[in-house]
Amino acid sequence: MLTMDTFSFAGKKALVRVDLNVPQDANGHITDDSRARAIIPTVKKILADGGSAILMSHLGRPKGKVNPAMSLKPVADHLSNLLGTSVIFATDCVGPDAKAKAAALKAGDVLLLENLRFHPEEEGGDEAFSQSLSELGDVYVNDAFGTAHRAHASTTVVARFFPQAKLFGYLMQAEIDSVGKVLGEPKRPMTAIVGGSKVSSKINVLRNLLGSCDELIIGGGMANTFVRANGGNTGASLVEEDLLDTARAIIAEAKAKGVKLHIPTDAVVADAFAENANTDQCPADAVPDGWMALDIGPKSIEVFRNAILGSKTILWNGPMGVFEMKPFQQGTVAIANAVAEATGKGAFSLVGGGDSVAAVNQFGLADKISYVSTGGGAMLEYLEGKVLPGIAAVRG
Ligand code: AMP
Repeated sequence: MLTMDTFSFAGKKALVRVDLNVPQDANGHITDDSRARAIIPTVKKILADGGSAILMSHLGRPKGKVNPAMSLKPVADHLSNLLGTSVIFATDCVGPDAKAKAAALKAGDVLLLENLRFHPEEEGGDEAFSQSLSELGDVYVNDAFGTAHRAHASTTVVARFFPQAKLFGYLMQAEIDSVGKVLGEPKRPMTAIVGGSKVSSKINVLRNLLGSCDELIIGGGMANTFVRANGGNTGASLVEEDLLDTARAIIAEAKAKGVKLHIPTDAVVADAFAENANTDQCPADAVPDGWMALDIGPKSIEVFRNAILGSKTILWNGPMGVFEMKPFQQGTVAIANAVAEATGKGAFSLVGGGDSVAAVNQFGLADKISYVSTGGGAMLEYLEGKVLPGIAAVRG
């Protein structure tokens, strides 16, 4: 396998799949440029070696049609500022403009291609379109973890045209290494914390994690289904009645594998799903009729916290409660703090897959976590144990 550190890009044109799908406001201003910042180390290494970079990305969901509101041109301007060098922009990702601008690149130049998804062939994984992209560069770098679970032209199919010259960018490699530290041979004890709204979206994650963790903490709305499966009264809480057997099977599997399963014993309950609802605390299995559990309670926090602080490896996916509403934030805040504290004491922590990432950012704790993943859906599928096509294509 080629790596960023050992490969020399001197004299090469690197075709780099990046994730520049940055959030923008109604006026097209970038509201969060973390994705753009995340690719800088890869681009800088290519340029420092004496190579040039051809960046390709999608932005939004233009559904295979040209949509000026989803042009990457403003992102090219922003990247110029971040890189301190003027980024050249091609008005289409394939065709004469892209070809001419790629051909004219000199060492140290950066070219950004227009939104890949203006062509339906991108999401369709079209072979000829992939070949046209491949003809622009000499070496393929995939640094777009956020789309690694998609078998699109630029993320997967294009790699076929670089059998001897394909590698992961720094960001992608960091994501892969972090998951490896959790699912590969983790330092023990390893604790997985899974929360979020529904069991249904995390069944495969739970099953896969049972194969590698020592302790499994379940919180958030999905915990109610487990409480109910154990015969508890969950009132008006979010419960997936059709998954009670699945929850029981997971409880049994944890027991059989010797995994210590932690389900909340108490809850913060509310009489409505609203910020200004009346609130109370009660045992998680005795929620009064008409009330709903919207956060874990103090006893659960204490138990979960102790498990986390005793761990050497921690994976966290999904909030403990409805953390978007202040009265139901305490559980998620406490767990985020515990993960940060354990990390400070030497544990490896990975926070990945959606809302828990938003939570650690919101609480200002991201720099106290070993690795905060950039890929929501991709991380979830990775944690399910799936082989991501974007990763397989570079390895294969
Ligand atoms: P997910 O996208 O599955 O990770 O779920 C994240 C969402 O779960 C967040 O928007 C939370 O508000 C929601 N959530 C967390 N705990 C609960 C709960 N006890 N009841 C209902 N929704 C919850």
